[in-house]
Amino acid sequence: RIKLDDAAAGMVGKGPRTNDKADRATTELVLDPRTRMILLKAINKGILESVNGCLSTGKEANVYHAVAGELENPGRQLALKIYKTSILVFKDRDRYVSGEYRFRHGYQKSNNRQMVKLWAEKEMRNLKRIHAAGIPSPEPLYLKLHVLFMEFLGDERGWPSPRLKDAPISPLEGDTDASGAYRALYIELVCIMRKMFHVCHLVHADLSEYNVIYHSGRLHVIDVSQSVEHDHPRSLEFLRMDIKNVSDYFGKQGVRCLAERSLYQFITT
Ligand code: ADP
Ligand code: MN
Repeated sequence: RIKLDDAAAGMVGKGPRTNDKADRATTELVLDPRTRMILLKAINKGILESVNGCLSTGKEANVYHAVAGELENPGRQLALKIYKTSILVFKDRDRYVSGEYRFRHGYQKSNNRQMVKLWAEKEMRNLKRIHAAGIPSPEPLYLKLHVLFMEFLGDERGWPSPRLKDAPISPLEGDTDASGAYRALYIELVCIMRKMFHVCHLVHADLSEYNVIYHSGRLHVIDVSQSVEHDHPRSLEFLRMDIKNVSDYFGKQGVRCLAERSLYQFITT
């Protein structure tokens, strides 16, 4: 019914922070015993019906397609973001977490598993806030330790929607190229950034064409574990990076973007 292996095979490319080793995809499909236990329990409780192919293997997490069980919305397609509990990848997260009041307590560098759990909790909380604000994003569903259950963005057959980077954007009616369509998407994303700042009080802090999914004709924000409060000591620096990524990307698509300083003003005031 759901052709997940095909979907996994059809996944294109990976984000800028992941390197594309071919053997990686296969080796990293293997789940550690604790993660398997979490998924088995979820199946026994009726939260999950099945866990299928891997949608993405990243440096810090893998994302799987799954189907919900009897408990709620049976048959609903889910995406499971499973954080890696292995050690080395978490070093550079410190800059996001320290200095943020929400996470000053209970944060232990010495305990990796605890840290990964905090990281997943942070993504859950941020995603809840973003989703509640009406910003298109996967609906956050459950969190179990380092496994985040969310809405799957894709079609009924289990094919994931593309990232903005890979999305086939067609010209608007009457246009000869897609730059007008990209201009509309640029404006859509700029409005998302402003709403994230003013309504959610968050700066994405890893925003680019890799962390936006083009689903049902709209841009959806994902990958918000590193997003920070707008009063985080480095939030404005992260916002400038987000603005640069977005401007560079849309500039390359032929959009005449706002000056980065003007966009910064627009988002923050
Ligand atoms: P990473 O930290 O590895 O970059 P992301 O949250 O960006 O993790 O997810 C990695 C990839 O998994 C995304 O680029 C997207 O292709 C896919 N993905 C993530 N969440 C979903 C979702 N809810 N529905 C469909 N695909 C998703
Ligand atoms: Mn990502």
